[in-house]
Amino acid sequence: MDLAETVTFGGLLGIPGGGLGRDRAAQLRGDGAGLGALAARAGARRLVLQGGAPVVVGPTEAPRLLRLALGDLDPEARGEGTAFLGLDEGGAEGVWVEEAGEGAPLPEGARTDDLRALAPHLPPAEAEMAATGRALLGWQAGHRFCSRCGAASLPAQAGWQRTCPACGAHHFPRTDPVVIMLVERGGRVLLGRSPGWPEGMHSLLAGFIEPGETVEAAVRREVAEETGVRVGRVGYLASQPWPFPASLMLGCRGEGLSEKIEVDPQEVESALWVSRERLLRAFAGEDAAIRAPRRGSIAAFILREWLADRLD
Ligand SMILES: [Zn+2]
Repeated sequence: MDLAETVTFGGLLGIPGGGLGRDRAAQLRGDGAGLGALAARAGARRLVLQGGAPVVVGPTEAPRLLRLALGDLDPEARGEGTAFLGLDEGGAEGVWVEEAGEGAPLPEGARTDDLRALAPHLPPAEAEMAATGRALLGWQAGHRFCSRCGAASLPAQAGWQRTCPACGAHHFPRTDPVVIMLVERGGRVLLGRSPGWPEGMHSLLAGFIEPGETVEAAVRREVAEETGVRVGRVGYLASQPWPFPASLMLGCRGEGLSEKIEVDPQEVESALWVSRERLLRAFAGEDAAIRAPRRGSIAAFILREWLADRLD
């Protein structure tokens, strides 16, 4: 899929085949002198999250991440709630991220907003930095204790690891793989909705990959469990980091082998086969019963590419 990496949070600038990702400068994470030199430059900046939500400035339709001078932030990120994100999109200056804490005062004109709502309006590199920061700091906050021995663990590698002073274990940020699939049959796609979603919203089926399972097996199992539909051939389309809190969405395409839908009400409220014409109406907000998935999600991305016949 040529445009796979242009997905929201993908960080690329619309160049098929990739190559323009931001430099995370991972070699500096354990290099105190190198981080210190980068932090001493006048262009060094920190991004700010508050309760995991990015702090932004500017108009609603064109927000930008707030970038502050480093101040007293430790460039090696040896404290909780900070991390080194690498170089900024210009490739010369270092960028860090910190969690300001709920209720902390913000600079005048700055505000927080939900990253899912912001992302489609941010420049691609900023969406990627915000997603990376949220995933990393969320992992830090939820993994304060060693999962091997239970002792309090300490940040290391500029926020990208935690080490246990009691047993010596190293812990790494989690990324949990999720399959999300466009199942096709006879020119229609299978959409479902989960209980609790906004009224009428339908999307692609999705589910966590289980231990010991391939991507293909997870696609077939999830679709069968949720709707009873059998899936044959499965192919990969595109991926999207989804830091709510730590998912990696693996977008796939599957061939529907059976028609009949029997939903599992525990997982899916309803599911149905939707034609191109009806999906176009849903995206236009003109279908009385179906609302399309939100802009910025990989589900909306894949469905729009399918409508445009650009999945191959
Ligand atoms: Zn331990």
